[in-house]
Amino acid sequence: MGLQEKPSKGAEKILLAQIKQEFSAPAEAIEQYIDLVEQFAAENNLDINSEINQIKEAEDKLLSQYEDAFKENTATDKKTKTNQEYSELRHNLRTPLNAIIGYSEILIEDFEKDLSEECIKDLNTILSLSRETETAIERFVDFIKGDLNESAAEDSEQGQIQNAESLFRSLGDIDYSLDIDDHLKGSDVLIVDDNKTNCEVLERRLSQNGLSCRVAFDGTTAIKEVDAKTPDLILLDVMLPDINGLELLKRFRNNHERDELPIIMVSAFNDVDSTAKCIKLGASDYLPKPLNGTILMAKSIASLEAKYFRAREQELLKELNLKATTCPLTGIFNRQVVFDKIEDCFDKLNQKNSYEFALLSMDIDFFKSINDTYGHPGGDEVLKAVAHSLRDACGNNVIGRVGGEEFIAVIENKDDLDLQDYCEKIRQAVIDLSIPFQDTKINITISGGVINSSEVKDQEELVNLADERLYKAKEGGRNKFIYN
Ligand code: GH3
Ligand code: MG
Ligand code: MG
Repeated sequence: MGLQEKPSKGAEKILLAQIKQEFSAPAEAIEQYIDLVEQFAAENNLDINSEINQIKEAEDKLLSQYEDAFKENTATDKKTKTNQEYSELRHNLRTPLNAIIGYSEILIEDFEKDLSEECIKDLNTILSLSRETETAIERFVDFIKGDLNESAAEDSEQGQIQNAESLFRSLGDIDYSLDIDDHLKGSDVLIVDDNKTNCEVLERRLSQNGLSCRVAFDGTTAIKEVDAKTPDLILLDVMLPDINGLELLKRFRNNHERDELPIIMVSAFNDVDSTAKCIKLGASDYLPKPLNGTILMAKSIASLEAKYFRAREQELLKELNLKATTCPLTGIFNRQVVFDKIEDCFDKLNQKNSYEFALLSMDIDFFKSINDTYGHPGGDEVLKAVAHSLRDACGNNVIGRVGGEEFIAVIENKDDLDLQDYCEKIRQAVIDLSIPFQDTKINITISGGVINSSEVKDQEELVNLADERLYKAKEGGRNKFIYN
């Protein structure tokens, strides 16, 4: 390979981020696995506290030393070091790792019989994570020394720089401003994480972007918070002190659908199995630790957006359903609902011998003359007033407007009901209406034909006979109900 180009500032930043991530991902995961081993030991009264504490101390040292070294050696005003100093840095960074590896091996060897198979697997994972961390430390020191791009003789490394360059160019095209839409502003996000610093960072980021946050440091508090008010989104840590995140996820899913309550799992267990498990248990998404702020916001917004549109969709469906079942002028049920109801009733009747229902076919008297006298708007006022009065009088029974000024009621539950009495009350209620229109009051009456399901064999006969009786009522002088 010929002359190597030095990476641009932007690409260098990406490379640095990658190098840091290569270290932090395994290094932070070690912490999670050691917690698991500790939990097992506590549950099984196994005295391995001293080994575990050594590992934990080493882990803290590992993270804080790296953090300091990273800051110091990537600052713009960093001092160049001698080769000797670089060797020392490498050695110092690796020292706590040796302790982690050493004590983990001791645990595996000395406590093989006392530890569960899973625990042994966790300890072996710690060992392989440690080796990953070691490699990441090597690369970090090479990078700050300048070895990584100067001696980029290996194609893979030169390729990595080129990738970073190209990623940097692509990122330039992306609109970074994650302006959240007004309809999502103030969305209620519940952060569940036992690590207070994590919570604080998350809270600050989300609030900066206009979201409103609540925080729970353990599972019990999280449940209380959700019970008190269902949030719009939950960011849920997998490792919690009392109830683990997966159990909590299952619990929330028992009462809340994914569409209604999005839950994003946050975890350092960055493997395929646990991600798949979370999704299977109903998580909306998965965020690996260490968290990247931009991805956090992008995923949170995407989840909130999906929930918002789903809710809109439900609202529209409700509206559509309302339109399909109600009469737009009066707001009571339409013809379709009434005839569906009659069909239902016949189905019930065919299944159960004792079942009975009645049909009331009603029509306003001399309605044409109302229109003639007061105009169409006057007629409309009368239609509305009558419709509402009928609806009130019919209670739980289905009543709908089936034509111009024609209404049908389907009366079920007529066991303790005197049908004649019931119909008379309806007729009287219409007489009592004194409908205000312009500077006058309009009075009207209604006629009806009443029939029992036991009198007929099918739907057609039922409706025809009811109409026949309604006609008889009209012939007989109107303002009356005919029952046979
Ligand atoms: P009867 O006592 O025999 O029932 O006589 P009627 O005048 O009530 O009956 P007819 O069927 O002759 O007249 C019904 C009228 O209802 C005719 C039609 O213009 C009017 N109509 C139908 N739909 C509406 C509506 O939505 N609004 C208004 N204002 N009038 C309507
Ligand atoms: Mg009429
Ligand atoms: Mg009519």
